[in-house]
Parts: sequence; structure tokens; C-alpha cells
Amino acid sequence: MTCYLGAHLSSAKGYAKMARRAAEIGANTCQFFCRNPRGSRAKSLNEGDLEQCRAFLVERNFGPLVGHAPYIMNPCAKDPGIRELAARMMAEDLMLMERLTPGYYVFHPGSHVGQGIEEGCRQIAAMLNAVLRPEQQTVVLLETMTGKGTEVGGRFEDLRAILSQVTCREKVGVCMDTCHMSDAGYHVAGDLDGVLAEFDRVVGLRWVKAAHINDSLNPVGAQKDRHAAIGEGTLGTDAILRFITHPALAGIPFELETPQDDEGHGRELAMLRERIAARSVQ
Ligand code: FE
Ligand code: FE
Ligand code: ZN
Repeated sequence: MTCYLGAHLSSAKGYAKMARRAAEIGANTCQFFCRNPRGSRAKSLNEGDLEQCRAFLVERNFGPLVGHAPYIMNPCAKDPGIRELAARMMAEDLMLMERLTPGYYVFHPGSHVGQGIEEGCRQIAAMLNAVLRPEQQTVVLLETMTGKGTEVGGRFEDLRAILSQVTCREKVGVCMDTCHMSDAGYHVAGDLDGVLAEFDRVVGLRWVKAAHINDSLNPVGAQKDRHAAIGEGTLGTDAILRFITHPALAGIPFELETPQDDEGHGRELAMLRERIAARSVQ
């Protein structure tokens, strides 16, 4: 099975440029922000650019691309206006994803800001039920979070609570983030099989459609969410390799979100591919 490895890239200069950049650094998938990560204004789209990007993805046999929602999106805010804004941003971003390529759209479930996890999960599912369309191609993914503050998604149970309330089941899934899961208290480095078995028991591994591969600056359970370059954190390169090559995750796109520029990501991708190849001949 093809291993889809990529990184978070900028789409600021257009989607065709982004896809070519991904190929240049040795990626066969990539992640990007559908709009400014801190702002709420959508970019204007250029059909020629989208067309060129699509053609390039097919030509190079890319795996699915991953669009990322802006960080300010909070579907379980206390203020109904902020929740409506979240729904509007997601609907707009999904329109872009539909026009670009059939792929994934990842979002942070949100922060319940004191309303409680249960109410937070209910509001997140309500937004998904308002936004998701049965005819859309894009699958919307809940990211596993560290659970810091009032963040929803730090426990696998949160994800199950949200997913179980969504009507359009085939249009939702989960994006695992190795740094976030470790920070949330799951022993990704020490006991990956145990963590995946736990996820399977609580949510079901079939829901995992994409993953973020990051090392963490902090120990298990720290709930800090500080990403480290692969091999420069508490997880280590071997743990990341075990994650990428785990049979339960075969075929999904893995995206680096490590604190590196494109060249740095390119070096990480080359190192990971080399190590994967070496493992498979053993
Ligand atoms: Fe994220
Ligand atoms: Fe992430
Ligand atoms: Zn993070």
C-alpha cells in the first residue's frame, strides 16, 4: 500500500504552487489552511489555479489532501454568534474543498468555555448536522486534542460523544495528532498498541482517516501542545515510525506539523522514508 507522507504547507501563493512545492519536498500529500488561521476572511478562489492543482495531484499520484480549519473556529462557544460564525466558516471552507479535490477537512472540536464537555459535544454535533451535506465528497475530521483548558477532544470518549450524535456518518471521521494524544495522557511512544486498542474500543479505528505526525516538547499528560521536530521531543523517531507503519493506520495521509520550514519538512520526510524502507527489508 502507498504510504502518503506530507507536511503542512502554505497555500498563500495558490493551490497549484502549493502542490508543486509539496512534490519538491518529497511529499505525496499535504495539509494547508483553507483561510488565514487566525482571521475569518475566506480567500478568493481562482478556478484556473484549482484546475492546475487538481491536474498535478492526479499526475503525481498524490494521496488525499487535508484542509485545516482556522484556530479561531469554536463550534461550542457560549456565544451563539461565535457558534454561527464557526458554522459559516466551515460551510465556506467545505465549498472550497469540494471545488479543489475530494479530501479531508480537519477542525479542532473547540473549547466548551465552562459549559461542560457534554454540552460542548452536543453543540459541536449540532453544527456538523447543520453544515454537512449527504452529497459532499469532503470528509470532515475531528482532531484529537490535548484537553488543555476547556478543550473538547482530549479524551477519545469526547470524539465518540460527538460522532454518535452526527447524522451524516459517512462524512465524518477522526484525525489523530501524535503530539496531542501524548500530551493528553495517551502513551503513544511507550504503548502504541495499547493506545490504538483503546481508541478502537471507545471510537473504532475505522474512523481514523488522517493523522498529524509531530514530536512533543513535553512529557505524556502535560497538556501543553508544543510540537517538536521528529526526534527532538519526548516521543522520538522510533515512536513516530511505529505510528506511520502501524497496520491499523495503513493508507491514511500523515502530515508533519513540526516547527520547520518547507526544507526542514523535506529533510524529515526523506529521513522517515529512508527509515521506513530500511524497516521493510529487514
Ligand atoms: Fe490542528
Ligand atoms: Fe495537529
Ligand atoms: Zn497542536
